[in-house]
Amino acid sequence: MIVYIIAFVILFLSVGAFFGLMVVSLMENTKSKVKKWVVGIITSILVSGAITAALIADRNIDMEQWNNGVCPQCGELWEFKGATKYENHTSYFYSCDKDQIVIELNSLPD
Ligand SMILES: [Zn+2]
Repeated sequence: MIVYIIAFVILFLSVGAFFGLMVVSLMENTKSKVKKWVVGIITSILVSGAITAALIADRNIDMEQWNNGVCPQCGELWEFKGATKYENHTSYFYSCDKDQIVIELNSLPD
């Protein structure tokens, strides 16, 4: 779980801060600095929170498929088949040859 807290903090300071600044720059009529800070920080939290939630959802789908490392049909261990790198993410493929099942994971299982 700690990895998601780190991911959240990094996103908060990068992508989140970027969106926060963008929103604040649109608030030309607002004189209050405090208001701008609050809106900027809330925007940043919402953006980085949404991305972190998507990462956790991906992980949960992975964990469901991974099924503790065994094929749900026969209970044999998955066999690693390879990885495919896309522009911004890598998929990892595992299969059970006996049952002709292939699973695709978004990250390497623990
Ligand atoms: Zn199987």
